[in-house]
Formats: sequence, structure tokens, C-alpha cells
Amino acid sequence: MGEENRMKKVVFFTDETKINDALENFNIQSFKDKKTLFKLHMGEIKNKYFPRPDFIKKIVGILKEYNIDPFLFDTTVAYSGLRHTKTGYKKLAGIHGFTKKKIGCDVVIDDKGIPVEMQGREYEVAEHIKNTEHIFAFTHVKGHIATGFGGAIKNFGMGGVTKETKLKMHHGSRPIYQKDKCTYCGVCAEVCPFDSIKVKNHNWEQNIKKCFGCGVCVENCNQGGLTYQEADLQYTLACSAKACLYDKNVIYFNELKRISKGCDCDPFSGPVICPDIGYLVSDDPVAIDKASIDMVNDVKPNIFLKENRVNPEKQIEYGEEIGLGSSNYQLIEL
Ligand code: SF4
Ligand code: SF4
Repeated sequence: MGEENRMKKVVFFTDETKINDALENFNIQSFKDKKTLFKLHMGEIKNKYFPRPDFIKKIVGILKEYNIDPFLFDTTVAYSGLRHTKTGYKKLAGIHGFTKKKIGCDVVIDDKGIPVEMQGREYEVAEHIKNTEHIFAFTHVKGHIATGFGGAIKNFGMGGVTKETKLKMHHGSRPIYQKDKCTYCGVCAEVCPFDSIKVKNHNWEQNIKKCFGCGVCVENCNQGGLTYQEADLQYTLACSAKACLYDKNVIYFNELKRISKGCDCDPFSGPVICPDIGYLVSDDPVAIDKASIDMVNDVKPNIFLKENRVNPEKQIEYGEEIGLGSSNYQLIEL
């Protein structure tokens, strides 16, 4: 390996038959005999693309071969529905096939958090994440309405914190209207996925009740007519992920299959926007997400940006800027 490659983070590209080989390269032996939090989004009701329970069972089985003691883990969400409460989410997890009986390990949903300060803001990190040292991060790669792309950073930046923190992050990326800069082009109204903005005859209006705080309007206004109430969601996402992960021993596993336009938290997240690619394994969340985006771009150039009109690379750049990880990676195919 040359000097330049030694500086790069390693990301392994593998298929189902060589997962052990990839794990061996990331000190999986140090997880031996350890209770290990297996972070997993178990899918919204009616979503078709969430991780497959049979495959999760297989990975759990592989971890057990190393005498690791995993438990599947996720957090409750801010919006209404089954996943809003621990009981509801547990029920939905069961409907989707994530039960102790089927997978072979406990399923834990957390609703409580411990405040962690990161880059001058406070994030309530899920108690189980805060209190654990070893994490296996399973992420189904897909697009996302607010962040363009959902990978390992998002799995923790949004999925590793309490619903109160999730809400705070979304509200922080709501728009503030700058009347003196607005040209009434109507782009913000056109891109808003929740029909929250109306622009007509030199009049700009927002129905705040409809605003989800995705930040897409701010991202798409080229005139400076909209600014974030507090911060870009992709920035707070990177900070929140770092609040979850900065002191942990983590192996990241990104599944590049059933890559849909929307997230697993969306009941209607289709269509699939890229053919299946395979699996990536790394110990760096920024490197593995950058490699995921690059591999999708190789097959379908700029598809995340085209589909959701949000630049997915911002979370990579912010993550690197705050020291969450490095986008400088070397891809090794097994
Ligand atoms: S996109 Fe910007 S300039 Fe255009 S209407 Fe919206 S706020 Fe005004
Ligand atoms: S933040 Fe999102 S939901 Fe709110 S107005 Fe802007 S585009 Fe619409």
C-alpha cells in the first residue's frame, strides 16, 4: 500500500459470501463477549424497502459466531404513527419480522435520552447508545426527502436521538423569509414537499403548520430569499451523529440494495432509483457514506440530487468539517 493509500480510510465492497472477511479487517475480535447495539431502522408501516429480516438474521448469526451478544435497536420518532411510542414501534417491528423468535436476539426501542453537547448545541442521545461501547451499524442506503440521501450518518444523526431532539433539528431548518431579497420566482413553493409555501403576484406566504422543517426550500432559493431558522438540517445531522458516535467502537455496514427515492420512514418511498449494488463495510461513517454515494453515482449519475433536489454531499462535507470522519477513502473489493 502506497503512502497516499495509507492515509485513506478503507471501505470494503463485498457480496453476501464474504461478509466475515470484511468484518475481520475491522477488529471484530474486540467485540467478542460484548453486548453490542445493532442499530437498525425497522421500517415504517407500508414501506416496502426496509432491511430484510432474513438478512438481518444472517448478520446476527455471523456476529454470534464471534461470541458477540447483539440486540437490535432503534428509537421512537417525532411524527404520529406506530413508531411514535415504544410499544407501537415494537409492534411494528414484529409485523416486519423483527422479533427475538425470528432474528435470535432482543429487540430494544428507546425513548429516553442523555444530553450531549456537540459543536455548541445539545443533542439528546438515546440512553442505550450513550451507555454502550460497541455498535454494529446496519444502514439501508436510500434517498431522502430532506437530506437527499440516507446512510450511516443519518442512521445516527436522526435515528440515534430522542424524538424531542429530532423535532428540534427539523424546526431549526425551517425557513426565515428575507423579503428584500425575494424575486417571487416561486421555486420554493414548487419544491416544498408539504405545500407549505404559496407565491403569487408578488406575495409570499407560508402555512407554518404544514412545514416539516426539511429545509428544501432554503436549499433551492438562489436569491438568498430564505435562510435557516437555526441551521442546515444536514449540518445538525452530522453534529448529532458525532454526539452519538464520538466515543464508540463502531463497525458500519451499508446495504446498497432496493435503493428507493425516499426513506424507510416513508410509507410511499418508491420508486427504486438505482439497481442493486452490494454491501460496504468500514469503520468510518463519512467514508462509507461517501463511497455509497459515489457507487450510486457511477451507475446513476446524480440520482439522489435529481430525485430529491437536495445535495446529498452536504452531510459528507459537514461530517468531515466537524471531525466525524473522512471522505478520503480507498475502496477494496473482496
Ligand atoms: S425561491 Fe427565494 S426568491 Fe424565489 S420566491 Fe422563494 S424565497 Fe423568493
Ligand atoms: S422547510 Fe420544507 S416543509 Fe418547510 S416550507 Fe421549506 S420545503 Fe416546505
